[in-house]
Amino acid sequence: RAKKNITTNFEFYLPEMEEKTAWRLSMIRQLRSDFAERKLELWYQPQIDLVSERVVGLEALLRWPDPEGQGYISPAVFVPLAEYSGLIIEIGAWVLEEACRRLKELKQSGHEQIRMAVNISMPQFRDQQFVGLVKQTLDEHQLPPDSLELEITESVVMDEPQIVIESLRSLKAHGVSIAIDDFGTGFSSMSYLQKLPLDRLKVDRSFVNEVEPGQNAFIAETIVTLSNKLGLHTIAEGVEKREQASYMLKLGCDEAQGYLYARPMPFEQLVAFLQKHESELKAENS
Ligand code: C2E
Ligand code: MG
Ligand code: MG
Ligand code: MG
Repeated sequence: RAKKNITTNFEFYLPEMEEKTAWRLSMIRQLRSDFAERKLELWYQPQIDLVSERVVGLEALLRWPDPEGQGYISPAVFVPLAEYSGLIIEIGAWVLEEACRRLKELKQSGHEQIRMAVNISMPQFRDQQFVGLVKQTLDEHQLPPDSLELEITESVVMDEPQIVIESLRSLKAHGVSIAIDDFGTGFSSMSYLQKLPLDRLKVDRSFVNEVEPGQNAFIAETIVTLSNKLGLHTIAEGVEKREQASYMLKLGCDEAQGYLYARPMPFEQLVAFLQKHESELKAENS
């Protein structure tokens, strides 16, 4: 009888934290085995030049098919687990390799000008081999280094500024492009903006959303002004409506990415999208 009570109490009082730890560990185990079985996918979302409306870039985004269903587990959920477990080093290397392989394929099939953006996490910067890995991957695919853009968030920079700045400087010297992702959400020190060898600021979706009613548009406006004064290119994230795109263009933003143009999609679908988009543009301009 006593034993039964203990069990009951244990289950009842199981601290939320332990439950969360158990969930995390089982997710990590599953992620590790699915990655080993090559089940992760890399999808691509177009980045559009606001003036010409041409596709000028792509962002590579990870997708993990839900082991228990037909859908996908959000990278917002599993990337933090991959970071926490260190798995992101191997997964990130695969992302880099796959993105470069696909970029080469696109360049060889007529999309010479397109660039590819890849998200990079903090543990990757801590890996001594990271800078060499990026250079080597570009080299193996014979890609011009400036056709690859690395996206890092402000929190990555703030976490370990020395390591990140040093790595980015070396990559930049090699020709690789650097973008700050989700800009405006990370409370980064302004002084880092001058220390980092940046090419682009990505205006966070939350500020782009707000340009529509007009009242809160000043944050997006301030970010674009800052970016222009720093001599950087600017891209608006999460553009879902025409008005948002035209407003961002009016502010002096160069590019946009969002559901208005296209959602992230598998490579085969992307190839078809690019073909269709280009022929539509040609039809409009003729
Ligand atoms: P992120 O780098 O800021 O990527 C942009 C996210 O916004 C993507 O979410 C994309 O699907 C979403 N998005 C794009 N346009 C719109 C729009 O118009 N409306 C809305 N509501 N959302 C839009 P996703 O694919 O779920 O990725 C979430 C985050 O996971 C990424 O945010 C990035 O931080 C991380 N992530 C994804 N792939 C990788 C990867 O390969 N490596 C690393 N380290 N992180 C990754
Ligand atoms: Mg990104
Ligand atoms: Mg972002
Ligand atoms: Mg984000």
